[in-house]
Amino acid sequence: MTTLDIKDLHVSVATEDGDKEILRGVDLTVNTGEVHAIMGPNGSGKSTLAYSIAGHPKYTITKGSVTLDGQDILSMTVDERARAGLFLAMQYPVEVPGVSVANFLRTAKTAIDGEAPKLRTWVKDVNSALERMTLDPSFAQRSVNEGFSGGEKKRHEIAQLELLNPKFAVLDETDSGLDIDALRVVSDGVNRYTAQGDRGVLLITHYTRILQYIKPDFVHVFVAGRVAEQGGRELADQLEAEGYDKYTRRSDAPA
Ligand code: ADP
Ligand code: MG
Ligand code: MG
Repeated sequence: MTTLDIKDLHVSVATEDGDKEILRGVDLTVNTGEVHAIMGPNGSGKSTLAYSIAGHPKYTITKGSVTLDGQDILSMTVDERARAGLFLAMQYPVEVPGVSVANFLRTAKTAIDGEAPKLRTWVKDVNSALERMTLDPSFAQRSVNEGFSGGEKKRHEIAQLELLNPKFAVLDETDSGLDIDALRVVSDGVNRYTAQGDRGVLLITHYTRILQYIKPDFVHVFVAGRVAEQGGRELADQLEAEGYDKYTRRSDAPA
């Protein structure tokens, strides 16, 4: 078992009006073998948490720690984090003109393993990963994210997840912009990944819909930059019925 431990994480971002604190003391522990859902209203800092774990340069850690089996993640480069076993779907969110999906995936795999994958089996692996995501083999020749539809981006992310097969996956809004068929394809991919065992998932979403397909072991309600409530799967059903209202009202209340 491997443990991803987030302790009292405070994160700020530089804005025109000065530094703004977005994460205000996040505590979260994810073990491999567990699926954690992070749910919360828009603007509560969910993506900021994902970017901070990923090492996005825009976000400044002002306090707290993120460790992987006690190893400090925050002092690592983005590549080192990937080699340590963290997969962040938003790690390469931008368009990469001129870099094909096939080359991009091979470069990522090589960076993680320290050696290039064997070409013959790799091409087969890529093709079957794309096929499982119902992406055409010609998709491998397209430039990364260039002109991808929302659904193609998400399916490409999960093809990556299956090919790179890290210890931990941080998936941000994996369900946004997916129709019901694509949602099923993407969820099946995440479930295959977790079914291998010894894998941890941090699934960030503000809809409960994807949780009908990917069953979380733990649900965390994220409000105003911290975890306001945690529970089991039943907490997602409660959110579905009641919304975030009671948590946002609580966090807005004067201290
Ligand atoms: P969520 O993913 O929960 O919707 P975000 O992490 O995207 O929330 O955003 C949390 C808050 O931080 C929002 O108020 C957002 O406007 C602000 N924020 C996030 N990133 C930046 C940034 N790069 N510059 C300025 N403000 C930001
Ligand atoms: Mg948002
Ligand atoms: Mg977000």
